Amino acid sequence: MKVLLFEKSGIENLKYTDVKDEEPETHQVKIRVLSAGVNPIDYFVVNGIPVRPLPHIPGAEIYGEVEKTGDSVRNFSRGDKVVVYNRVFDGSCDMCLQSSENLCRNGGIISVITNGGYSEFFIVDEKNLIKVSGISEEIAASLPVAALTAYHGLRTAGLRAGETLVVFGASGNTGQFAVQLGKIMGAQVIAVSKKGWVKELGADLVTDLSNVKDVVSKVTEGKMADVVVDPLGEKTWLNSLEVVGVKGRWVTFGTLTGSNVSVQLNTIYSKHISLFGTTGGNRKELQELTSLSRKMKVKVGKVFSLEEGKEALKYLMAGDRDGRAIIKV
Ligand SMILES: [Zn+2]
Repeated sequence: MKVLLFEKSGIENLKYTDVKDEEPETHQVKIRVLSAGVNPIDYFVVNGIPVRPLPHIPGAEIYGEVEKTGDSVRNFSRGDKVVVYNRVFDGSCDMCLQSSENLCRNGGIISVITNGGYSEFFIVDEKNLIKVSGISEEIAASLPVAALTAYHGLRTAGLRAGETLVVFGASGNTGQFAVQLGKIMGAQVIAVSKKGWVKELGADLVTDLSNVKDVVSKVTEGKMADVVVDPLGEKTWLNSLEVVGVKGRWVTFGTLTGSNVSVQLNTIYSKHISLFGTTGGNRKELQELTSLSRKMKVKVGKVFSLEEGKEALKYLMAGDRDGRAIIKV
């Protein structure tokens, strides 16, 4: 079967090549990969974070169709459309027992501690699959990382109807979903982006970075935001901190522009601000998204073939990217 593979880190070392096709074990399912999202995690996997095994197949966000099931698999059959919950988890540690499979003590991220899905076929435990129907291929390929990360972040921050949510990086992978989920959860959403099309995601207001403070202040009559989501990190950290209101919640789950920040602690405690770090989400949330996402859309910037994996990763990090990068296998 065809895969994207690297032995030594670096995009230039990614090869489109053949590896031996394998069969699912008793509780596993073999899926034919239809589409795979391209995310910062994939870029970091290819560019030097420690991974195993080597040679390594990246690809953390996988949508496909069941090809073959192991002998004990009852809930899936050939032809089912599925997304892959991309965490390895044991199901028995204290974190798993409280439905925090993303924080499993003995787990990790599929595509980091296992091979990923930039591949014609992908074999995974049945407990990692969730069926989807009635959604577009682009949305399905955006649920396991982009949408799930945004949803879990908003849920962890306890976003409530009627609150004001500010989303930085609103045209980005997670940002697009944070805007839409914020609306579904009943919030007033202010999106920070230079892209005009972000308005079509349902944001109440779209503003650029230089005006965000004034816009949030005006809309909230000086109270500022209840929840702020910022997946960008270093470059926008101060902008986002200054729009968090009293008792506001600030959510970080990404560092696309770097992760070194300096903070005046008094700006946090004097306003009773809660800082939430989140990563991924749990299986239940991914399952909820399969129905919530029927109302959602995703702006795709460019679709690549598996063979064009290098270009897809370069496009992901290009400053002029205009929507998601998706690999169609
Ligand atoms: Zn566990």
